[in-house]
Amino acid sequence: MKKYSVFAIAREAMRGHKGWEEQWSSPEPKKEYDVIIVGAGGHGLATAYYLATVHGITNVAVLEKGWLGGGNTGRNTTIIRSNYLYDESAGIYDHALKLWDGLSQELNYNVMYSARGVMMLAHNVHDIQVLKRHVHANRLNGIDNEWLTPEQAKEFCPPLNISKQARYPVVGAALQRRGGTARHDAVAWGYARGASARGVHIIQNCEVTGVKRAANGAVTGVETTRGFIGAKKVGVVAAGHSSVIMNMAGVRMPLESYPLQALVSEPVKPVVPCVVMSNTVHAYISQSDKGELVIGAGTDQYVSYSQTGGLHILQHTLDAICEMFPIFTRMKMLRSWGGIVDVTPDRSPILAKTPVPGLYVNCGWGTGGFKATPGSGHVFAHTIARDDPHPINAPFTIERFRTGRLIDEAAAAAVAH
Ligand SMILES: Cc1cc2nc3c(=O)[nH]c(=O)nc-3n(C[C@H](O)[C@H](O)[C@H](O)COP(=O)(O)OP(=O)(O)OC[C@H]3O[C@@H](n4cnc5c(N)ncnc54)[C@H](O)[C@@H]3O)c2cc1C
Repeated sequence: MKKYSVFAIAREAMRGHKGWEEQWSSPEPKKEYDVIIVGAGGHGLATAYYLATVHGITNVAVLEKGWLGGGNTGRNTTIIRSNYLYDESAGIYDHALKLWDGLSQELNYNVMYSARGVMMLAHNVHDIQVLKRHVHANRLNGIDNEWLTPEQAKEFCPPLNISKQARYPVVGAALQRRGGTARHDAVAWGYARGASARGVHIIQNCEVTGVKRAANGAVTGVETTRGFIGAKKVGVVAAGHSSVIMNMAGVRMPLESYPLQALVSEPVKPVVPCVVMSNTVHAYISQSDKGELVIGAGTDQYVSYSQTGGLHILQHTLDAICEMFPIFTRMKMLRSWGGIVDVTPDRSPILAKTPVPGLYVNCGWGTGGFKATPGSGHVFAHTIARDDPHPINAPFTIERFRTGRLIDEAAAAAVAH
């Protein structure tokens, strides 16, 4: 793999950009691998990358039914933060945040991680109590989060409306300065390039249609639209379709799949310097480097595998944006889209071994898994390589829904994404 550098750009400029290599190869599937990862989203590709780089396991295939990064990885609004309430969540999301810092250098690929700050607004006494509880809990875990007055919030984000006449006035905010955004496609491409360079096979247009098990119950491989592919270890990282694939192996998952939408405006000059989120008014906003306002909110109320959500959700979201930012009332929206998110009852992920020997699952990230991509891939690779969870993901079992030892960010979350 040729290193990207200023010298490489200069060299290619001199020879008409004819020397750039393919970023990843597209080999034919082999009959057997040591490990198969189902799903070439950010989490699956990161898992393959760390299997190769940290554990030296390179006889790996990542099977993707569509194109890599075409699932939720390429559809999300890229909010990155680690200010979750519970210790377990703080552990895994901050592990990821530490890896974001330096990921471009690690991958030799610009993932455009921008620690521009994530600000969560409070509009009433309940919000103040919830957000301050997060600030204190985060600090106990060594995670930055600070309380701002409405005036300080406006100073941090000048277009924010803090008028006391607003229907839902801003009465304070919690700010995580290390939070921010990254370029989602580049994250998938960077991990794919790094994994492929180390010998991992990334096989697109290859849908998994069955999971094969031996008489003793252990996994022996997967049936795909390109034939049977053998492996003694299979990691399922298929977001909204995880329960479908786990069902093929006879494992019933505590997951529901919902459409989640987002939309972008026409591009404008830089105006929103950070990420702003509000759970009460219910919308969030940031601005991409292209200038588009990137906007989102909640899921549809009904489970579905259709990648288009209800129009009323978008209308409600834009109502909320205009409430917080009357300055944007006349902006035109350019496009909207949806993804299928996999939601657990406690809104925390599952990264674990399963009752089936050789079968591992990484799912349940719901509306907020992009931010965890590097950390999730790192600890999931450990789980597969050692057949034992990393201490960071050890609490994120399937069994917690049987034992009741939940990580209940559903009840605790200030904002879900
Ligand atoms: C609109 C929207 C906004 C979001 N905003 C944020 C945000 O701001 N911040 C944040 O942290 N998170 C956000 N998320 C959530 C985040 O996108 C996901 O949690 C994360 O991207 C999941 O990554 P993944 O790699 O697990 O899944 P995906 O990227 O979805 O990858 C799974 C892959 O599995 C493939 N697959 C499925 N079935 C099969 C099969 N049978 N065979 C082979 N391949 C299969 C799919 O095609 C897909 O490519 C958002 C999600 C959406 C939809």
